[in-house]
Amino acid sequence: MLIDKHGRKVNYLRVSVTERCNFRCQYCMPEKPFSWVPKENLLSYEDLFEFIKVGIDQGIDKVRITGGEPLLRKGLDGFIKMIADYKPGIDLALTTNGFLLNETAQALKDAGLNRINISLDSLKSEVAHHIAQKDVLQKVLDGIELASKIGLKIKINTVPMKGVNDTELLDILEYCQERNFPIRFIEYMENSHANDLKGMKTHEIQEIISSKYTFEQVESKDPSSPTTDYKLNNGYVFGVIEPYKDDFCKSCNRIRLTAEGMLIPCLYFEDALSIKEAIQDKDIKKAASILQEVLDNKPEKNKWSSDDDGEVSTRAFYETGG
Ligand code: SAM
Repeated sequence: MLIDKHGRKVNYLRVSVTERCNFRCQYCMPEKPFSWVPKENLLSYEDLFEFIKVGIDQGIDKVRITGGEPLLRKGLDGFIKMIADYKPGIDLALTTNGFLLNETAQALKDAGLNRINISLDSLKSEVAHHIAQKDVLQKVLDGIELASKIGLKIKINTVPMKGVNDTELLDILEYCQERNFPIRFIEYMENSHANDLKGMKTHEIQEIISSKYTFEQVESKDPSSPTTDYKLNNGYVFGVIEPYKDDFCKSCNRIRLTAEGMLIPCLYFEDALSIKEAIQDKDIKKAASILQEVLDNKPEKNKWSSDDDGEVSTRAFYETGG
């Protein structure tokens, strides 16, 4: 079992397979990323898998594939199959913008994928275009419908932004409710890569939802989930992720591996160690000791703060693996 210095059990590994993305979401990426990591610097699927095995052998039982946009990397179904075959029954999930799901969902499911989180920030094509800086909506919606039809479990992630999609929060919630997809509204997290945007805080999101529904906070089914859940009067549950909240990090159970082999203890924490050399030297003992060192470095709290002395992260989600 993996336990960090603050007594938190770490059982969740998020693996970014690429930092590249086919969207340029204004809250995540500059129009031109400063520079992409050259492809030759990326770890092969085989190398990423070698490290994942080390994690699984020590207690990781949940793996999420993310990016960048993970569906851009060819052969992802084969990678998923390696993990699913190594540990049948493992909780294996993917986070995607959904754009390439139509072409990939069936192969991913056949390979052993269970669940998909999909970003959906608008149901209006012009707004989705404005956010992603590309005409994306119809293809994303088609991908969501297909993935759901073939039996993948779907969750929707939405980042509410003032003056961008704030008038649509009820529509997006109802789109999810009609299809029985859980939705999580993610409070916008400031970072030096994003354009000048105004995110919305939980109370502002709640105010919009309360114009139509009453709701009450309910206990989350998963105590390590970063989401606060609310149940509407009709029984549908929606969630809000509040990274600025004081106890947000209390139950954090995750670490992150980037496509270049950097092991990161916290989304917006700069300290990371490379497992690349150890894995390529097939030095499993060394890889395991790096894993322990990263756990020992896992900070008690992330560095976000909503007050003025808080730091604005220079690491963007697409780099770390959001
Ligand atoms: N490309 C995939 C996608 O779109 O879901 C995976 C990577 S993306 C970085 C993962 C999640 O991070 C998305 O749900 C996105 O909305 C969220 N995200 C990115 N930047 C964010 C920010 N500044 N604040 C809040 N959420 C953010």
